[in-house]
Amino acid sequence: MPRKIVIARFNHETNTFSPIETPLSAFAPMWNEDAYRDQKGARTAMGAFLDIAESVLGATVVTPVAAMANPSGTVAAEAYEAICESILAAVAGGCDAIMLDLHGAMVAEQAGDGEGNLLEKIRHIAPAVPMCVALDLHGNLTQKMVDNCDIIVGFKTYPHIDMYETGAHAGRLLVDMIEQRIAPVIAWRQLPLLSHTLMSNTSAAAMQRAVDAALAAEAEPGILAVSIMAGFSLADFEGAGMSVVVVADRNSDRADAVAARISHQMWNDREGFIYASEPLARSVQRAQELAGGAGPGPVLLLDHSDNVMSGGSCDTMDVLEAVLQAGLTDIAVGPVCDAEAVARLVAAGIGATVTVALGNKTMLKAQGLAKTPTVLTGVVRAISAGEFCVSGPIYTGSTVRMGRTVLFDIGAAQIVVTEERVEPYDLGIYTSVGIAPSEKTYLLLKSRMYCRPVFGPISKGLVECDSDSGGPTSSNYALFPFKKIRRPIYPLDSVVEF
Ligand SMILES: [Zn+2]
Repeated sequence: MPRKIVIARFNHETNTFSPIETPLSAFAPMWNEDAYRDQKGARTAMGAFLDIAESVLGATVVTPVAAMANPSGTVAAEAYEAICESILAAVAGGCDAIMLDLHGAMVAEQAGDGEGNLLEKIRHIAPAVPMCVALDLHGNLTQKMVDNCDIIVGFKTYPHIDMYETGAHAGRLLVDMIEQRIAPVIAWRQLPLLSHTLMSNTSAAAMQRAVDAALAAEAEPGILAVSIMAGFSLADFEGAGMSVVVVADRNSDRADAVAARISHQMWNDREGFIYASEPLARSVQRAQELAGGAGPGPVLLLDHSDNVMSGGSCDTMDVLEAVLQAGLTDIAVGPVCDAEAVARLVAAGIGATVTVALGNKTMLKAQGLAKTPTVLTGVVRAISAGEFCVSGPIYTGSTVRMGRTVLFDIGAAQIVVTEERVEPYDLGIYTSVGIAPSEKTYLLLKSRMYCRPVFGPISKGLVECDSDSGGPTSSNYALFPFKKIRRPIYPLDSVVEF
C-alpha cells in the first residue's frame, strides 16, 4: 500500500489594523484536484511537498485546499472555518503524514493564533501522524504552533525567493522522520521584540547576521533546521514578534542551546531590527536634494505607510500632498485606488478638465483615522482597461489587473488612478497608460520592497517616506492602538529585559 499524505496550503499575513476585508473569495481557494493542479510544479512550499511526496515516497497525495490571499485585515470567520474544515476532513479520512504550507501570521475572527489553532485541531484528530510545516519568515510563531507539529522550517530570504527550497527542507526532514532515520524535537525562543518589515531584509544588517547564524548552526551535528522568524508586527495579538525556532534530532538540550544562543545574538542586535521614521517633510527634502544631484533617472519616493502587499488601502494621500506642497514637479504617481474617481474621470472622457476629490476614502477604523480626500483639478490624458503582462523580474509573465485605469494630469504630477488596489512591482503600472517612468524626475510608489528590483535599476536613488499621521502599513508603531500584544515589548516599551 502506498503511503497517503495530506498536503495543503493556507496562507495569509493578517494586518489586524488593515481596513481591507478578508472574505473567503480573497483566498480564491482551489479545492481537491484543482489544488493539486494549481500547485504541482509551483515554486512554493506546497509545490516542493508534492514533488517529495510523489517522487521520493511514491505516496498518494490528498490535497484538500490551496488558498492564499494578499495581506489584509482579520480573516472572516466563515473563510477560516471553510478552509480549516477542508484540511481537518482530509486528515480525519486517515493519512500517514501531513505537510502544510502556512504563513504563520494569520489572525482570524475566531482565532487570534490562526495557525496554532489549526495545528492543535489537526493534532487532536491525528495525534501520532508525522507533520511538517513550512512558514513565511514573517510568521508570528507561538507555543501552540510549536507544540502541535513535528517539524517547522521558515524562509531564509526576504524578499522571499526560497519558498520552494523551504518546503523541500521541511519535506526532506519529514521523509527522514517517517523512515525513522531521525526523531525531530523542537526548541524555540520568542523575543520581546517587534521588528520592522523594512529591517527584515536578509541581505542587510542584523537580519543578515541572524540568518547567517542560523545557517552556521544547521551545519552542527544533530541540528536539522534553524529558522529566524522576523514576525509580522501589524498583528495585534499576543504572539506577534520575532522568534527563532530550532529542529534537532532527538536532543532537546542541543536544540535549546542553539535557540538560546541565536536569540541572545538577536536581542543584542535589537536596534538593528528597528526602523525609525523621519518626518515626511524631511524625506521630501532629501528627495529634492537627490534629484538635484548627478546621474540619470528618477528619484523613487517609496510610501511605506500604504503598501497593498502589507494590507494597505492604496488610497492614502499624505505623500502626494507633501510633495505637491513642497513644490516638486514632474512626478509620476501610482497607483492610487479610487473607483469613484475613476468613474467620474472616465465619464468626463479623454481631454476633459475635471476637479475630483481623490483618495483617502477608506476609513482606517482600527487606527481611529479618517482622512479627507484631496481635491485636485487636472486633465484626463488616458483611459485604459488596466491590464498588462508583467515584464519582471518579480512575477514575470503574470497579468496585473488594475480595473479601469485613468491617467490624471494635474500639472506637477501625472497620477495613475485605478479601480483595484495594486502594489507597483512592474513598470507596466506606468507604461500601460503611456508614461515612460525612466524619464520622470520622481516616481511616487506605494511600496516598501516589491518595487525595488524593478524600479531600483532605472532610478537615481530612493527615499523611504512614512506618513506623519499614520497609514494602514506605517512603520511608526506609536500610531497603532495595540491592545492585545504581550507587554512589555520593544520598541513599544523602552525598557525590556530578555
Ligand atoms: Zn513574508
